[in-house]
Amino acid sequence: MRVYELANELGMENKELLKLLEEEFDLEIGSHMSGVDEDVADMVKELLEEETGEKEEIEEKTSEEKKDPVSEESSPLAESPAPEKEIIEVRGQITTEELAEKLGIQPNQAIKELIQLGEMATINQVLNPEAVELLAEEHGAEVIFEEEEEEGATLAEGRIQLDEDVPEDELEPRPPVITVMGHVDHGKTQLLDTIRQTDVVAGESGGITQEIGASEVKTEEGEFVFIDTPGHEAFTAMRARGAQVTDLVILVVAADDGVMPQTVESINHARSAGVPIIVAINKMDLPDSDVQRVYQQLSEQELIPEEWGGDTICVEVSALEAEGIDELLEMISLQAEMMDLKASPDRSTKGTIIEAEKKKGMGVTATVIVQQGTLEKGVPFVAGATSGKVKALINSYGDRVDEVKPGRPVEVLGFDDLASPGDFFEVMEDLSEAREIAEQRQDEIKDAQVQDQGRVTLDQLQEFIDKGKIQNFNIVVKADTQGGVEVLRDSFESIEADEVEVNVIHGGVGGINESDVRLATAAEGMIVGFNVRPDSRARRLANETGVEINTYRVIYEAIEDIKDAMAGMLEPEEEEEVIGVAEVREVFSISGVGTVAGCYVREGEVQRSAACRLVRDGAVVFDGPIISLKRFKEDVSDVAEGYECGIRLEKFNDIKEGDLLEIYQVREVTPEL
Ligand code: GDP
Repeated sequence: MRVYELANELGMENKELLKLLEEEFDLEIGSHMSGVDEDVADMVKELLEEETGEKEEIEEKTSEEKKDPVSEESSPLAESPAPEKEIIEVRGQITTEELAEKLGIQPNQAIKELIQLGEMATINQVLNPEAVELLAEEHGAEVIFEEEEEEGATLAEGRIQLDEDVPEDELEPRPPVITVMGHVDHGKTQLLDTIRQTDVVAGESGGITQEIGASEVKTEEGEFVFIDTPGHEAFTAMRARGAQVTDLVILVVAADDGVMPQTVESINHARSAGVPIIVAINKMDLPDSDVQRVYQQLSEQELIPEEWGGDTICVEVSALEAEGIDELLEMISLQAEMMDLKASPDRSTKGTIIEAEKKKGMGVTATVIVQQGTLEKGVPFVAGATSGKVKALINSYGDRVDEVKPGRPVEVLGFDDLASPGDFFEVMEDLSEAREIAEQRQDEIKDAQVQDQGRVTLDQLQEFIDKGKIQNFNIVVKADTQGGVEVLRDSFESIEADEVEVNVIHGGVGGINESDVRLATAAEGMIVGFNVRPDSRARRLANETGVEINTYRVIYEAIEDIKDAMAGMLEPEEEEEVIGVAEVREVFSISGVGTVAGCYVREGEVQRSAACRLVRDGAVVFDGPIISLKRFKEDVSDVAEGYECGIRLEKFNDIKEGDLLEIYQVREVTPEL
């Protein structure tokens, strides 16, 4: 039998039993998942029985000593043992009705008794712990409050709780987990491939690695774990779920191209997550590579290279020609050493899901980065809102293994259902408990979807500040010009407030895209756009995640709005709703009339009476009324999705093919009293 099974049977903590095995039987068993012989189990049971026997004797004696000899004689009850108290476990909060059920009484009776005990309770009321204890005591029961963070409310959030205060001698070094980020085409994929080729183990076994979402790479410079999907999308999507597995970011910057928009996005994503960055200046083999220019551009982003007296490590490489790779790995290794990355292989096993998949012949699988404890075959687990039992473990070399130490990625077979990247994975003691928790989480997720997602909105900003729900008010700023970004950044960051600090976590030129929404989601912030609009994917994602996007055409209004919202003085006057998007497919110039845009309605509908915004490359070029809407030659009041139409805008003729017309309505909103 396994240690945890025995511990369970004896009602002990795994740790306690492991310690007892070591101290009393000289058995050093590393993990609660390891097996113990039946006779050892029997010996432990005997020992414990003896101990409890002795304890009871002592207790009996001491209570006898305390007893008044007179009353003892006169008490007929003295001989009979005290009735055993029923134990009820309360996890998180409990209502009157739930407590009544646990005590086996009617809710009405519970209410009556609670009132007698001085607690004015209703049936659905969440009871305070004292009231729970009092009522339980009345019914001869003892209450054990379980820590909620172990299983309850934090589950839906999926945040991982690793053991703290693990003694140093229990910890073992683990490899750093690294994500490669940077602008498109700067060589992220190539760099990952080249680094993987330096692996000494894969080299020996023929070099066929398994695509599991993360790879172990063992090199002369040390051992590393790379997340296979480069770029900040996956990184931020996971962070938005409260998971962070990346210890270190390699920022790839092509030496011939320099710092580009996605480079800046990557820097801000890594920074917002508090993850250190090592820069790989790539494509050094190209004749027009210019390291000094890259240094200059990095410095503008406040990443001052060591070469320039700062503390950002920059390594010149050519991913294509495999130059400089050893030095890059050495730098990563040094950085990791400084971070002193360690984990305990003996604690309860926990980790994070990197990706999940249904595979032919393998069922539902997921790749887990084990972050604490040792993952073994055969154990039940819960991961996000799903559960399962580990059928097999496959590492990134494609080998089936029996156990995985912390810090390593592994593909786990045996999931009941698909997990999501970023989900928290935890080994449980039995499968039915794991399934129960998964179901409970499914309910929690459903509830959370119904309820307000708790994201910051301008309307609720002051409430959030007052309740201390936010200390940092994070804003992503997008504008049509760099000047606009700078003005907004400076203005927002100079807003003085006692309880909250305003941070512009990313500022960029151009339309609002999915990456901006992801960043705002992860940072629990909002997006402010000046003269720019979200594209439809960003709009959809923002709707799903509840991130607020506020766009302005006047800088002053943007600044005033944020200030007013922080002071709780925001007056909601108008609310805008985008009702359709039309794409300009052809442009006709008609003398005496002006420019007519031949459009295709991509989403929603176009209404003649609605207002229209002309968006080119994400920036707002025109904002005003539609003066004519035609289908063929007929004037019409609306045109539905999937149809073509001709649109003329008031006093605006600079229309170009590919422009988007965003059709919107403005509603008056009566402020809530
Ligand atoms: P990603 O979009 O950042 O993943 O970029 P890729 O790794 O796909 O690389 C984009 C292009 O740059 C490909 O054609 C690569 O062959 C090329 N490339 C990558 N690294 C280097 C390099 O060090 N030198 C040169 N000359 N080309 C490179």
